[in-house]
Amino acid sequence: MAGVNDGPMTADGRTGAAAGESGVVVDGVGKTYDGDGTPVRALDDVSFGVESGEFVCLVGPSGCGKTTLFRVIAGLTDATDGEVRVAGTPVTGPTTDMGVVFQEYHLFPWLTVEENVGFGLERSDRSAAERAERVDEMLDLVGLSEFRESYPKSLSGGMKQRVAIARALAVDPELLLMDEPFGAVDAQTREMLQRELLDVWASTGKTVLFVTHDVAEAVTLADRIVVMAAEPGRVAEVVDVGVDRPRERGDPAFGEHVARVRELIGAGP
Ligand code: ADP
Repeated sequence: MAGVNDGPMTADGRTGAAAGESGVVVDGVGKTYDGDGTPVRALDDVSFGVESGEFVCLVGPSGCGKTTLFRVIAGLTDATDGEVRVAGTPVTGPTTDMGVVFQEYHLFPWLTVEENVGFGLERSDRSAAERAERVDEMLDLVGLSEFRESYPKSLSGGMKQRVAIARALAVDPELLLMDEPFGAVDAQTREMLQRELLDVWASTGKTVLFVTHDVAEAVTLADRIVVMAAEPGRVAEVVDVGVDRPRERGDPAFGEHVARVRELIGAGP
């Protein structure tokens, strides 16, 4: 069998695909930073999979390597060991197969809502009419059609994050990769965005990998939670959240999952 790194590199930073593999595979990923003379082992032998269409959250204490792992998966930094594959293809740089949403909205302030959502489509081979149709669909999906001509500065934090989600989904990526996306909004907006994200996930069938330090948020959203531990950053356990959606925080099964994950990350019950 040919080595997975032997395939030709494509323009969007990926090499040849592993036959039949779908979803995301994090395969023996390690990362050592040079540090200030003392090497820092930020990730050590991290392996887990995300099935196509699955919603997986990544949680862990500060310093366990969440940001580093997110950046490796997104192709923003190289792993020292191992590799990440999306739909069987090793990630070697940022790719259009991933829609990335950060805590800071990263919207272009000089573009309107619809121009922000359509930004990634500009480089696609869709016609102008197809692009406009896709932008309409995405604005409808996140409930922002009537704000299409607004500029980001006139939007609330929750609305800005909806624009960022619509923009990430517009190019129809295989994976939606989210790093603490609701960390900057108030608690009420956060719960609303969580519900909306679950609706978007259910209606689009996308694979979602969502990083958060909020255990209750992970239990609200995820099919499975990858719990990480620090020094070196590694997978402590993968927890299945076998609770029907929509999930209620007052449900004893919800509380049991929160307690279990908190215990694993050493935050107490
Ligand atoms: P988290 O997002 O879970 O807080 P990080 O991925 O930011 O974790 O960091 C994991 C470890 O790697 C920490 O010990 C951190 O100090 C270290 N680290 C992160 N970035 C760098 C860097 N650029 N140089 C050296 N060490 C780093």
